[in-house]
Amino acid sequence: MAETLKTEVTVVGAGPAGIAAACRAAESGARVLLLDENPRAGGQIWRGTRCGRGPAGARRWLARLSDSSARLVDTTAVVDTDGDGGLLVERRGEALVVEGERLIVASGARELFLPFPGWTLPNVLGVGGGQALLKSGVSFRGRKIVIAGSGPLLLPVAAALATSGAHLRLVAEQAPAHRVHGFALSCWRYPGKLIEATRYRAAFLATAYRTGVWAVAARGDDRVEEVVLTDGHRSWTEPCDYLLASYGLVPNLELPRLLGCAVDNDRVTVDDHQLTTVDDVYCAGEPTGIGGLELALVEGEIAGLAAAGRDREETALAGRRRRLERFAAALAHAFAPRQELAERVEVDTTICRCEDVAWKQLHPAGSFRQAKLATRVGMGPCQGRVCGPALALLRGWEADRVRPPLRVSTLGVLASRSKGPAGH
Ligand SMILES: Cc1cc2nc3c(=O)[nH]c(=O)nc-3n(C[C@H](O)[C@H](O)[C@H](O)COP(=O)(O)OP(=O)(O)OC[C@H]3O[C@@H](n4cnc5c(N)ncnc54)[C@H](O)[C@@H]3O)c2cc1C
Repeated sequence: MAETLKTEVTVVGAGPAGIAAACRAAESGARVLLLDENPRAGGQIWRGTRCGRGPAGARRWLARLSDSSARLVDTTAVVDTDGDGGLLVERRGEALVVEGERLIVASGARELFLPFPGWTLPNVLGVGGGQALLKSGVSFRGRKIVIAGSGPLLLPVAAALATSGAHLRLVAEQAPAHRVHGFALSCWRYPGKLIEATRYRAAFLATAYRTGVWAVAARGDDRVEEVVLTDGHRSWTEPCDYLLASYGLVPNLELPRLLGCAVDNDRVTVDDHQLTTVDDVYCAGEPTGIGGLELALVEGEIAGLAAAGRDREETALAGRRRRLERFAAALAHAFAPRQELAERVEVDTTICRCEDVAWKQLHPAGSFRQAKLATRVGMGPCQGRVCGPALALLRGWEADRVRPPLRVSTLGVLASRSKGPAGH
């Protein structure tokens, strides 16, 4: 029988949204448990931030969290519901059940990978993946790097790589010039963001930042050695030791879907209090739509206050949220993946890298479900978190439903589910 932790407010995800939610709920007097599968709080953007190190905003929020009564339960992944209103979680191989009166889901986002010939070669990484390696101490000094992706994340990653001594050859943004420039012009309303972008660009001024350019193939024998790029009119190759190629972010919707929360247009439906369509389940941060750090924080604060019954204090934050939502909408429009990215796949291109399923094996299928009957696409350790969003763009297929476990887990942990076997 799994140990049960009881609390008033459970927060899943200790990124900026979850930290803000946990702080606000705890400061309002609620008993709060904050769960995250990572060994430290911080999420994607504040990965590696510690006391005395990292951006000031991050240090302030982390200090506020440790000063609060919220209890961080790290290295703990939510793998399923327990069938009885609680969450089944795995901590260092052991099962735990977490029962909270209210739940805030702040599960964040991951990178969008779109397959192309050679994308499975060693040293072809996501843009955020390259950043994570750099933050964890991997040295890229003197290594030839091409970044070919999309969205504002290219800028801090290019800046960090250039500053660390990498030989950054090109930063290629797939979005066309008119969209990127239109977006930059609309940013006069957000001077802080403009200043930040200018600061990043200044850090890699020696390298070209080209819009309307994307990678069509990566080549090499046992690792990437060159990338073929195009601007739609002509193609050329750039030699590289690393290629960072991903196309923005996709929200982590598996847990909200498993809980029965309505999802529309790839975002969890929430009301003004960040309450989902399921009673006592709130959602904040990227699962409600990709919106960046500040929006994640504001939504987290609102969710935390609402879950602690302090709805009236949210008013001041609501205007700020509306303003940031407009910024998020402009961002999504400017950096939407172009159709040509879906046209790069060849018959032998791997689509599901967990289960080694190639494009040609999927071709006869008309839906994700049909493809799963004929192949093992989406059934590997990542449970379709990589190939699912790719197939949504390549074929217009939506993943039909979420199947637990949400993370790789042991049979012992799954067997502790109080009602019936995992699978809904
Ligand atoms: C790889 C990557 C790199 C990024 N780098 C930058 C950057 O340099 N600059 C920038 O401005 N923005 C960056 N972003 C975007 C930034 O993360 C967001 O704008 C924002 O900060 C998101 O906050 P969040 O709290 O919603 O999500 P996140 O920061 O993603 O936090 C979500 C947390 O939920 C946890 N989680 C999810 N599912 C489970 C589960 N089942 N069980 C337990 N824990 C779970 C995760 O471990 C994670 O810690 C990056 C995003 C990604 C994906």
